[in-house]
Amino acid sequence: MAQKVSNARLVKVTLLALWFTLKNLFRKPVTVQYPIVKRPIPERWRGGTFALTTDKETEEENCIGCKLCEKICPSGVIAVEMEKHGGRGWAKSFILDLQGCLQCELCVQVCPTDAIVMLYGMEAPVTRREDLILDKEKLMANEGLYQAAWATGLKLQNLHEPKK
Ligand code: SF4
Ligand code: SF4
Repeated sequence: MAQKVSNARLVKVTLLALWFTLKNLFRKPVTVQYPIVKRPIPERWRGGTFALTTDKETEEENCIGCKLCEKICPSGVIAVEMEKHGGRGWAKSFILDLQGCLQCELCVQVCPTDAIVMLYGMEAPVTRREDLILDKEKLMANEGLYQAAWATGLKLQNLHEPKK
């Protein structure tokens, strides 16, 4: 059986609700009119996508195809095919499937040549699933499109070095 609500209680809760609405009516909003207004992104923020880098001096690809990123990836979303020529290794092909990426950054942390980096920024939306599968071409193009996040493999490895 439904419980009867007294008139006094009804008035009380109505007044309380009105008071709550009035109190918040003149408060400064906590939301911003994105994308017209953009909040500053924290310095160490890294975005949801990746790039493969090139050496600024030689313009050679930094990736040596060592497959460390592929082996460490807990989701198994990286696949690298290696080839050797000119006295070093290269990535013949490189696939990173963002659909299963945990954003754990382990692939970046283990890279011995700073070849794979996460990106600083959050505005790379896609509308098709296939656009989440990044091949070598897309990953290399990302280097020119977006700023790299602060952390690279070598920086992170140095941070883990025991203090002398
Ligand atoms: S961030 Fe983590 S889950 Fe994503 S590709 Fe790298 S290692 Fe794999
Ligand atoms: S991105 Fe780095 S870790 Fe991955 S294959 Fe290339 S050199 Fe090795």
